[in-house]
Amino acid sequence: MTTVDHLRQVRLGNLRTVLLALVDRPGSRADLAARTGLTKATLSNLAEPLLAGGILVEEPATLAGMGRPSKPLRFHPDGPVAVGAEINVSHLAVETLGLDGETLERRLVPADLRKASARDVLDRVCALIREVTGPRPLLGAGLAIPGVVHDGVVVRAPNLPRLVGEPLALDLSRRLGVEVALDNEANLAALAHLWPRHLAGEDFVHVTADVGIGAGVVLGGEVYRGVSGFAGELGHVVIERDGIPCTCGSRGCVERYAGLDVILREAGRRRLDSLRRALSAGDSKAVDAVRHAGEALGVGIATLTNLFDVPTVVLGGSYAVLYDHLHDAVRSEMDSRVLAGGERHTRLVASPLGEFAVVRGAAGLITRRAVQQPERLFA
Ligand SMILES: [Zn+2]
Repeated sequence: MTTVDHLRQVRLGNLRTVLLALVDRPGSRADLAARTGLTKATLSNLAEPLLAGGILVEEPATLAGMGRPSKPLRFHPDGPVAVGAEINVSHLAVETLGLDGETLERRLVPADLRKASARDVLDRVCALIREVTGPRPLLGAGLAIPGVVHDGVVVRAPNLPRLVGEPLALDLSRRLGVEVALDNEANLAALAHLWPRHLAGEDFVHVTADVGIGAGVVLGGEVYRGVSGFAGELGHVVIERDGIPCTCGSRGCVERYAGLDVILREAGRRRLDSLRRALSAGDSKAVDAVRHAGEALGVGIATLTNLFDVPTVVLGGSYAVLYDHLHDAVRSEMDSRVLAGGERHTRLVASPLGEFAVVRGAAGLITRRAVQQPERLFA
């Protein structure tokens, strides 16, 4: 590496450090210097191009104590944003996210996409994205799919078969004129609990249910995808060797006992909101259906916990909605099946992000990339 390259790398590393500190919270140059360990001179030097490029803005001076008035730096309110989009079996969702981690706009619209072509789906995604992105510069888009993604291509999506093998990221990138990153919805929902705010620590499993059941496994602050993108397929962990046949070809998979469609059918309800109302009213059929699902889910989660030794399990998506009624059954199975469970108490919590976790993670994929590789902000 030449000296010039080396200096450039050091400068980018310092920029990353400052941006990460600002994602945490705004601060004056002196405060940022103290938080990052950089000198005030280096800090002023690094802030210059970020201010000139409209990434940061300097707030009016405020008098703090006896010292000189400080002028806090923060991300510019008209600065670049990222957009996240979710293509699901029964809905489309989008969200725009600023570099400071604030949600600007979001939408969720019901849509039956099981038989839709890639072109139809992208038409609708694009229209929705245009509704939520205003005049602010767009850094890029994250696209979430309920399927297995490998090298930017959907390799398996049992519920959206027409999207398999389609160049979705490339097509959307051409339409929007920005970079598009494609990933699995369970991984992105997990990422939303890691970035821009740590909501569940750096080691956890985020479990969510729709038609299928997905788990996003986060180890050491990174989503673990596996070699081919198949990691975290909790729905197809077998809990009964000769159990109910599954669409995957196996038998007795968790999904056949704890999937949302199974819960709804057993409860005699068609939609999640109707199930929720039945649970609130103490409807015994609904309560039993959710408890049975919780028992099966708890067995699957105990297996995950035994494999990965994570301290926290987050129930997200529709499981977060049903959390109060799922909790006891899941907890009870974990308590009796996690090895040495008494000594390393695994936390079981509901996700605070609800149905927008996936799109928040999809947008976060882009803002995180921009902060970790600050050269992208000047492209
Ligand atoms: Zn299966």
